Amino acid sequence: MYLYNSLSRKKELFVPNHPELVKMYTCGPTVYHYAHIGNLRTYIMEDVLEKYLRYAGYNVKRVMNITDVGHLSSDGDTGEDKMLKGAKREHKTVMEIAKMYTDAFFSDCAKLNIKRPDVVEPATNCIADYIHIVQTLIDKGYGYLAGGNVYFDTSKLEKYYVFNDFNAEDLDVGVREGVEEDTNKRNKNDFVLWFTQSKFEDQALKWDSPWGVGYPGWHIECTGISLKHLGEDMDIHCGGIDNAFPHHTNEIAQSEAYLGHKWCKYWMHVLHLNDAAGKMSKSKGEFLTVSLLEQKGYDPMAYRFFCLQSHYRKNLVFTWENLDNAVLAYNKLVDKIAALDPNAGGEVDKQMLWELKQRFMKGLDADLNTSLGITAVYDVLKAKTDDKTKLATIADMDQVLSLNLLEAAAKKREAAKQAEAAEEHDPEIEALLAARTAAKKEKNFAEADRIRDELKARGIEIIDTPQGPKWKRV
Ligand code: AMP
Ligand code: ZN
Repeated sequence: MYLYNSLSRKKELFVPNHPELVKMYTCGPTVYHYAHIGNLRTYIMEDVLEKYLRYAGYNVKRVMNITDVGHLSSDGDTGEDKMLKGAKREHKTVMEIAKMYTDAFFSDCAKLNIKRPDVVEPATNCIADYIHIVQTLIDKGYGYLAGGNVYFDTSKLEKYYVFNDFNAEDLDVGVREGVEEDTNKRNKNDFVLWFTQSKFEDQALKWDSPWGVGYPGWHIECTGISLKHLGEDMDIHCGGIDNAFPHHTNEIAQSEAYLGHKWCKYWMHVLHLNDAAGKMSKSKGEFLTVSLLEQKGYDPMAYRFFCLQSHYRKNLVFTWENLDNAVLAYNKLVDKIAALDPNAGGEVDKQMLWELKQRFMKGLDADLNTSLGITAVYDVLKAKTDDKTKLATIADMDQVLSLNLLEAAAKKREAAKQAEAAEEHDPEIEALLAARTAAKKEKNFAEADRIRDELKARGIEIIDTPQGPKWKRV
């Protein structure tokens, strides 16, 4: 498989550090609000990556943090803690907010068929791990104390901006518009490892540490949690593109300084879902959630389909019209699958299944091209083979796409059957149809027409077939 690596800015052949286990880490949600469908685009694409690796035969261990402390309003370590902001907004405690939005996040994930990672760790569970890492960084000369906080000294690194060639000035966290400069920092991009001093004195959760009572910076949690569960190296670290700087840049700085060697091999970044106003973001307050889509009558699977139709390294524009187009395409695909006979006899043609599977894998091997993966499903429908093989192949591919294709098709078949059954068993209409047939037999055409008109007035259309009259609602 070829995967675009943000570190090298190239598509690279994926070769895990240890052939027996792929270690994967995903930055989890900051649980101060509902996840919006932009966040969920990132989690859908990461889910596809994990499932595809498993499908391709790898054993995968995937770890995800839950940010329930330390993520300040600005990614540059200033402003109020987002969790505290959420708690104030809803007149609840920080822990109540964390539980409520963590549960809501996993409920949204379930609706979108996003598998729960093998390990899910709230940041507040691993304080001792962070303290140990921060102390080691101080001992090694990478961390310093200033104004009561512990900072990471980015000037100690040979290369700090690992993901891009941007002008360092443009990226200086301390001088970005709307962000106050922290005068304790030796260098503008130094970042906080541990806070004991903050302008916001009412910080809800605090822990004892060698540097005073305080709380961890945002970036240290991903280093601590990944080292705890994945050890000293990892294969793939994922997140949305906004995480590349400063979050992932800082994660690499502190992890490699702590370990003394390279940490993660591949960095995968999902581009943003944008709406008409630009990037969808929680802090803007108004955003779309899965529940809102459902309230408007959209099946969450149609949103997953919408995401899979585009490549993860392109910005995706959300409009209702674009989503409606995805709904149409998804329904059409399901209709075609519903037309296959689920009771077809015979054996699955294994050779054909293998050939069709190769097309699917070719698409996903090309930097997770999910739209080619969907095209491969259409190829199955067009293939010259029996329904049993087609259904088995689609079920196989849907292990990765997770679009509920067979379940949705079965539901459609069932609904059609029930509609048919309901119509066939309306005794009143059947009695009228029988009376019309009798009238026709007696050549009483006036009575036959009268019955037809009466049914028509009630929205029933008669269809004369060789097996006798049938009817449908119009
Ligand atoms: P957060 O809950 O803000 O920490 O973000 C959770 C994940 O969603 C991170 O991986 C972000 O990079 C990602 N993300 C944030 N905004 C968007 C967006 N508009 N489109 C796609 N991913 C996003
Ligand atoms: Zn992270």
